[in-house]
Amino acid sequence: MGYRCARCKEDVEIDEESSRVRCPYCGFRVLLKKRGDQPKEVKAR
Ligand SMILES: [Zn+2]
Repeated sequence: MGYRCARCKEDVEIDEESSRVRCPYCGFRVLLKKRGDQPKEVKAR
């Protein structure tokens, strides 16, 4: 699952089952779930 830090806007990979959600870059604890808008990583089937 792809997430993005709400503060530094870095892409963050986390485990959804883990309750520890934190940006590894700045330590911010609010991550935005990336839904449909993935401008760069769009994989065609
Ligand atoms: Zn961050």
